[in-house]
Parts: sequence; C-alpha cells; structure tokens
Amino acid sequence: HAKQQSRGSVQFFHEELNKRLLERIQLEQEMQYALEKNEFELYYQPKVDILSNQIIGIEALLRWHHPRLGLITGADFISAAADSGQLISIGEWVMNAACEQARHWHDNNSDLGGLPIAINIAIPQVYAGLPSTLHRTLHKYDILPSLIQLEITESLLIRDLEMVTSVLREISESGISIAIDDFGTGYSSLSVLKALPIDILKIDQSFIRDLGKTHSDTTIVAAIINMARALAVRVVAEGVETKEQLAILRSLECDEVQGFYICQPLPADALAQQLLQTTSVCVEQQMNLHSSF
Ligand code: C2E
Ligand code: MG
Ligand code: MG
Ligand code: MG
Repeated sequence: HAKQQSRGSVQFFHEELNKRLLERIQLEQEMQYALEKNEFELYYQPKVDILSNQIIGIEALLRWHHPRLGLITGADFISAAADSGQLISIGEWVMNAACEQARHWHDNNSDLGGLPIAINIAIPQVYAGLPSTLHRTLHKYDILPSLIQLEITESLLIRDLEMVTSVLREISESGISIAIDDFGTGYSSLSVLKALPIDILKIDQSFIRDLGKTHSDTTIVAAIINMARALAVRVVAEGVETKEQLAILRSLECDEVQGFYICQPLPADALAQQLLQTTSVCVEQQMNLHSSF
C-alpha cells in the first residue's frame, strides 16, 4: 500500500512539474508580445524617513496586465524574463517609463517631482551596456542623475564581482545612487561591501517579517543597521507590514522604511492623488504621509 502511495505522489510530482514548466514556457512566449501590446505598467511605492515621516524616495515596481492572468507582479515573472533573455528590453522599457514619470511629475509641479526614483536592475542589464542606456535615457528626459537610484539584488551581485564593481563605479561617479536590494539573502562579505560604491542597503523583507516574534531576527536586523552605520550608508527596511515592526525599526534607528503598512505600491496617478487628497493611503494615520508634505 505504501509503495502504491509513493508511486502516486511521484506521478503527481511529475504532473505538477510538467504543468509548471508549460506555464513558464507559455509565460515566456506571451512576454514577447507584452512590450508591443503595451501591457506593462510601473507601480510606485514610497520610502519614508523613519524620523520625519516624510517620503524621501519612490521605488518603481513592474506590473504586467496579463491578458489571461490579470495583473501580475515582478515576483511572478521577473525570473522568467531573466531566463528567456527578455529582461534587457523590458528593463529598458522600465527605465524609460520611470524617467518619463519623473519628468511628468516635475513638469506638473507635483510634490513627487523632486523625489529620487529607484529602479530595480537585474545583473544581465549591467552587462548589456547599462551606463550608456542610463545616460541616454536621462538625457532624453533631461533628468538629473541624482533623481535616479538603482536597486540591485544582493544574491546576484557576487557572480562576477570585478565586472559588476567597475560598471557600478562608473554609474556611481555619474551621480546615480546605488542600493543593495534584499540584503542578507546573499553572501556579501564586508570587503565586498567596501569595494562596491554603495549608498543604500535594503534589508530583505524576510528579516522584517518576524521582527519582534523571533529574537534572532531582531538581532540580525540590529547587526545590519550597525554595519550600515559603520559603512556610512543609509539603511532601509522593506516589507514593513505592522505597527510593531515599525516600532522596533525605530528603536533600532533604521533610517528608512517601506512596506504595506506605510503604503502599497500604486499606479503613478493613484499615488499622487492619494497623497494629495487623504492620508488613507496609510493603513493607520500615525505615519501621516500627507501632512508631512
Ligand atoms: P524588490 O525590489 O525587493 O521589491 C519589493 C517587493 O515586495 C515588491 O514585489 C513589492 O510589491 C513587495 N512589497 C512591498 N511592500 C511589501 C510588504 O509590506 N509586504 C510584502 N509581503 N511585500 C511587499 P514585486 O513587485 O512582486 O517585485 C518582486 C521583485 O521583482 C522585486 O523585489 C525586484 O527584485 C523585482 N522587480 C520588480 N520590478 C522590477 C523591474 O522593473 N526590473 C527588475 N529587473 N526587477 C524588478
Ligand atoms: Mg527593490
Ligand atoms: Mg527587496
Ligand atoms: Mg525582493
């Protein structure tokens, strides 16, 4: 009986694997037309200074209005885009859209106008002439480099460190700031961090999730914050979902926070509207994003 059952589960495993593989292949094929069909959109999520409660930056997050699946997020398709080689052209679309938005906010005297926009970058983009793509796009929209931050996931950084470091140096010297995203999920040593031209560390949300519940995560977050201090870089906690997490981060003297508790990622106009009209964008009033403007 046991044997039968295990054979059943192996069979199930195969079917499940096949299904996922097919889904992935289908997704990659559909992605080829997503750019020309204009199915991508950037959502924007504020980063807030933990002391002043002011919005001090905005992260652009890619969304896909998928014809079959509805609105899907980066988590659902970025890795498929990377594997199929489509992330470079999509990444260029993202950069263009973010800069166009920055220009639009600026031209309309929006309160969001002067804020730096953070763009997520995948390593393949770094190899594909990232500095010149950036240069070209900033020039096209007449945007200062100081308005752009790049977020690069830590786990992907150390694959080809020398090459990545030299490209990031070039970008950093042009005035664009660099953030290490998902910090704590990779294996960066202190010497790696010292060699890279980093301005911001973003603590991965997996450490924020259990903040206050498990003692070890509080210790880890405290250590990352102290390390950021020692390296003289700003430190951001991502994925802040509760009042308790925010209170702990405040007591640990984290610089900036970002997460559903403060504000969901929203389409550009929706974000501007919410911030102008109400404070309801905050899950609770005490962050008070609106009055901080
Ligand atoms: P990330 O850069 O670390 O972005 C944070 C992710 O967490 C986003 O998911 C965001 O929607 C989500 N998030 C924000 N606040 C909270 C919260 O309080 N709780 C929880 N549970 N999640 C929160 P998303 O949009 O699905 O993006 C996932 C990842 O995909 C991003 O992680 C980033 O690495 C990548 N990505 C997103 N947009 C782009 C892009 O334009 N280009 C590239 N290359 N990668 C992108
Ligand atoms: Mg990011
Ligand atoms: Mg992250
Ligand atoms: Mg992430």
